Amino acid sequence: MPTTSDDCIFCRIVAGELPARIVRRDERTIAFMDIAPATYGHTLVIPRNHSRDLLEIAPEDLHAVASAAQSIAARASERLGADGVNLINSCGSAAWQTVFHFHMHVIPRYADDPLRLPWVPAQGDPDEIATAAAQLIG
Ligand code: 5GP
Ligand code: ZN
Repeated sequence: MPTTSDDCIFCRIVAGELPARIVRRDERTIAFMDIAPATYGHTLVIPRNHSRDLLEIAPEDLHAVASAAQSIAARASERLGADGVNLINSCGSAAWQTVFHFHMHVIPRYADDPLRLPWVPAQGDPDEIATAAAQLIG
């Protein structure tokens, strides 16, 4: 039995208590259509076990989600004619997470779709980059 959290809509989808258009299942994950798709074929891959986010998910579940997301990305390319795919995970409200059961968005991309990068690429401050690197290195 997967670990669950009360009041988690994705746990309820795993349990079959809420409807979802499930497109792939394996021992550790399910994949289903996002109810508010960013593009045609937008799919969510989630672990069956409840974990809040990227910082909490068990490595085995994260690996299984990554593998399932790769499989859905291949289907998007082969069956939907996607020109590309974005994998997006939001960790924390500040990063746009709204459902607190880990999920990977698999977003098929089309040459003429309306999505845009959420930041404007611009040359960074080298000192600030070096400072961040010093904090992250290890
Ligand atoms: P987040 O904002 O946390 O990165 O992503 C949550 C995603 O879950 C959103 O894209 C939203 O459309 C989707 N979502 C929220 N509630 C439901 C639901 O009940 N069913 C399905 N299939 N998707 C949902
Ligand atoms: Zn959950």
